[in-house]
Amino acid sequence: MIPQKFDVVIVGAGLAGTALAVALGGSTLRVALIEAQPLSLQWPALSDDVSSFDARVSALTLASQQWLQQLGAWNLVAAQRTAPYRHMQVWDGEGTGFIEFDAAEVNQPALGHIVENRLLQVALLQSLSRQHNVQIFSSTTVERYERDAHGMRVHLNNQAQLVTTLLVGADGANSRVRDWAQFKLREWDYGHIAIVATVATEQPHAATARQIFRRQGPLAFLPLRTNTPGQHLSSIVWSTLPEEAEALMQLDDAEFMQTLGRAFEHRLGAITATSTRFSFPLRARHASDYVQPNIALIGDAAHTIHPLAGQGINLGFLDAQALAQEVLRAAQRGLSVADESVLSRYQRSRKTDNLAMLAVMEGFKRLFGARQLPLRWLRNSGLKWVNRSAVLKRILIRQAMGAAP
Ligand SMILES: Cc1cc2nc3c(=O)[nH]c(=O)nc-3n(C[C@H](O)[C@H](O)[C@H](O)COP(=O)(O)OP(=O)(O)OC[C@H]3O[C@@H](n4cnc5c(N)ncnc54)[C@H](O)[C@@H]3O)c2cc1C
Repeated sequence: MIPQKFDVVIVGAGLAGTALAVALGGSTLRVALIEAQPLSLQWPALSDDVSSFDARVSALTLASQQWLQQLGAWNLVAAQRTAPYRHMQVWDGEGTGFIEFDAAEVNQPALGHIVENRLLQVALLQSLSRQHNVQIFSSTTVERYERDAHGMRVHLNNQAQLVTTLLVGADGANSRVRDWAQFKLREWDYGHIAIVATVATEQPHAATARQIFRRQGPLAFLPLRTNTPGQHLSSIVWSTLPEEAEALMQLDDAEFMQTLGRAFEHRLGAITATSTRFSFPLRARHASDYVQPNIALIGDAAHTIHPLAGQGINLGFLDAQALAQEVLRAAQRGLSVADESVLSRYQRSRKTDNLAMLAVMEGFKRLFGARQLPLRWLRNSGLKWVNRSAVLKRILIRQAMGAAP
């Protein structure tokens, strides 16, 4: 079979890979996007029932929102269902430390938005469907990779072969591209399992994202939008020790709702309904390099971090944006899209930021998991001190929104 030729082949149409494909859309480059799962351009039917919400949501920064706007995906998803959060409250479940942020402190209408992953995925795919230079291979897996004279050769499970100058691994945390190319990977277990679900609460969330740091791990309530008066829904991310997670997953819904309400100190009153729960083991991963000749990694394929600050896909979007910018610039200048200077500029622009975020998440996790008195004192007085400093808070808010301080 004669192989099809592409400039860029992206493996993985998760949020990072699809966003990269949209960003390369409309250029002179021939792009392929390969995804193992079936892809749908149809919006799912939405209702205000807890089971109608995707349990996987992302807290998107303003920076991610602005980029998605440029890609033509933001307005599509916003017309379906997104929820702004205007306030954020974080407190120490073991002490008195408390900090809150308000969008008004930085003169913004919102600190960010909670978006269901599957809706964002449809929005990106709809934007992509308008781009004629991107060919989508859905329900297709890559069986084998090979280096050849053009760069890379990709063997698909339907016997087709693609050759490409640049292969992008956007194939998630267990990236086969990364493993095949033997990228060095640092990884460690966070010792946490995250349980996610959609829940209804007695009291309104007031567009506030809330997170309690328990000794076992953080528990977040992220506000969701509903149109039913008197109905208040939140998406929860409950990160905890494996033994507690296992016990929580085994509870029936009524027991789970009671236990969740207690763990959250009943800040939104009783929990009145819950969707099915899903659990995810949390591991930190970081590839020592993001590039090799003719290969680049983006998103979770390059790094995974604790969801406690909701930064995972925001970092993935920044990777995709940076790689798209370098690749498009190379194409305009008549350079190869896999030129060493192109790939190394991409890596330089992203690695330091991603590593810094990984270190901050590790620090948070250790600080709040600590039982030693000096550390407990530090987090209580530290949080209160930062809460009183308008300048420091503005810097923190801007960073959390993905903007320059
Ligand atoms: C509990 C939890 C809560 C989170 N909350 C947030 C949050 O609030 N904000 C935030 O920014 N991030 C959050 N994250 C992180 C975020 O979900 C991930 O960073 C993001 O989904 C990763 O996207 P990705 O496109 O890189 O990878 P993935 O979503 O894993 O996509 C990879 C894709 O590649 C496909 N694939 C894999 N192998 C092959 C193959 N061989 N051939 C073809 N296709 C293949 C897969 O089917 C998949 O579709 C959270 C994570 C967890 C676990």
